[in-house]
Amino acid sequence: MNYDVIIIGSGVTGAGIARELSKYKLKIAVLDKASELPSGASRANSSMIHGGFDDKPGTQKSKFCVKGNKLWHKLAKELDVHLDECGSYVCAFNDDEVKHLEKLLEQGKINGCPGLEIISGDKLREKEPNVSKEIVAALWSPEAAIINNFEAVNALIESAKINGANLFLETLVTGLLFDDEKNIKGVSTDKGDFLAPVVINAAGVHAGEISSWAGDTSFKIIPTKGEYFLLDRTTQGTVHSFLFSCPSKAGKGVTVLQTAEGNLMSGPTATEQEDPEDTSTTPEGLAEVLKGARRLVPDFPIRSNITTFAGVRANTESGDFEIKTLKSPRGFVNVAGIKSPGFTSSPAIAEYVAEMLKEELSDRIKLTPNENFIPERKNIPRFLYLDMAERKKLADENPSYAQIVCRCETVTEGQVLEAISRRGARTITAVKMMTRAGTGRCQGGFCCPRVAEILSRELNIPLDEVTRHGGESKLLTGKTKEPLLNKMKGAE
Ligand SMILES: Cc1cc2nc3c(=O)[nH]c(=O)nc-3n(C[C@H](O)[C@H](O)[C@H](O)COP(=O)(O)OP(=O)(O)OC[C@H]3O[C@@H](n4cnc5c(N)ncnc54)[C@H](O)[C@@H]3O)c2cc1C
Repeated sequence: MNYDVIIIGSGVTGAGIARELSKYKLKIAVLDKASELPSGASRANSSMIHGGFDDKPGTQKSKFCVKGNKLWHKLAKELDVHLDECGSYVCAFNDDEVKHLEKLLEQGKINGCPGLEIISGDKLREKEPNVSKEIVAALWSPEAAIINNFEAVNALIESAKINGANLFLETLVTGLLFDDEKNIKGVSTDKGDFLAPVVINAAGVHAGEISSWAGDTSFKIIPTKGEYFLLDRTTQGTVHSFLFSCPSKAGKGVTVLQTAEGNLMSGPTATEQEDPEDTSTTPEGLAEVLKGARRLVPDFPIRSNITTFAGVRANTESGDFEIKTLKSPRGFVNVAGIKSPGFTSSPAIAEYVAEMLKEELSDRIKLTPNENFIPERKNIPRFLYLDMAERKKLADENPSYAQIVCRCETVTEGQVLEAISRRGARTITAVKMMTRAGTGRCQGGFCCPRVAEILSRELNIPLDEVTRHGGESKLLTGKTKEPLLNKMKGAE
């Protein structure tokens, strides 16, 4: 299989690059080991589109964050993705922290982050009545926003596919292939070889390992876990904006936010660990989150918690992104160390990578504009947000939109069918990522068997072959009473 460019990883970084490169006449292959998107850090994070005041001026992070923020405001409309333009506050509890706010304000101005302002604790409480009375001041960033990260990654990759890119899920990249001059020829995977003169490494927490295959060990990924609480939507309105504590060396600290879909959420911790894939939550981590949440919002309604989760950051020692082409082997591009504010920065990173290919790898890849590029992409209809007239119209046109599958999030069979038949969902989790079926209060208790039945019917596979997230993650292990019947047969 021959391509012009291979992208390893389809998180927000790889998916964003794929969409950007689909603006050119290129044969693109995006390879991801996961069964559905997003996987990795792009699935489990705070979903904040940062204002851009937090990063040291002059770093790649500071440059891409402010630009990425601007681009997301436009992209969210183009790609039909939920973006809540809610703004953010960094909260200070004492004079030292107020000094820190002043530093962030100056830093933000240098980075080009617009509209920053320090306000008093009382003014903050006028907007956010549930925050602590101990907060003395806050840094307001009006351009900050919260995005639906599941929708965003799926929208980017879908847009890339509409414009000709090819996505290969469940495809684990196992090595790099080199030509006689020891330059890049492609990659080997568990599904066979893929050939291309340019390979882009956007493999998140695994990017360090893949970079070392190309001989670049100049950075090391330090997997750093962040744990969260996610609360029921009945908590909507507890806060309206994204609330940060003052940042420390360990990270931006525990935050309290309302997701783009109206759930209250709090986290993350920042714990270094060996295993890049360990996304378990821990009693200690969650206790730390709850303490941080209550510091910001004393009556944080933890009784409405519906799930906990964790994501793993691809931190590096330099603290900055590692985006560069290698001199040798030619054709290898690292887009690594994409930690926070990586989600925010991703569209700006994607533009930068396209420019880098033009300037530094023009002997290997030609970026000729694709005049047929279609910028827009439409999401699956979100039944929950439609008014009664719109719901009726949809159901009249297609009766499967009259069948509710997920009661908590009001997801219809029509949406699930759209995810499977037109958008390529093959697992319970893929349907969840595309439609939100299973993300509500009962966490799939009601809709999971129904989604499994629809997957079985539409994919024409036995029910016991349906998986939660690919591989051996099957839901059913056998028929009820089968072991007992077998035992009785044995006794005959
Ligand atoms: C706790 C936490 C909070 C965060 N909060 C924010 C925030 O509020 N705002 C913000 O801007 N950023 C935030 N970030 C950072 C942001 O989530 C990341 O920067 C971003 O998601 C990184 O995207 P990525 O595509 O580089 O990596 P990932 O999303 O991890 O994607 C990498 C992909 O590569 C695939 N892959 C890996 N190895 C292979 C292989 N060998 N073969 C095939 N596929 C492979 C994986 O399956 C995965 O899909 C946060 C991160 C964490 C963990």
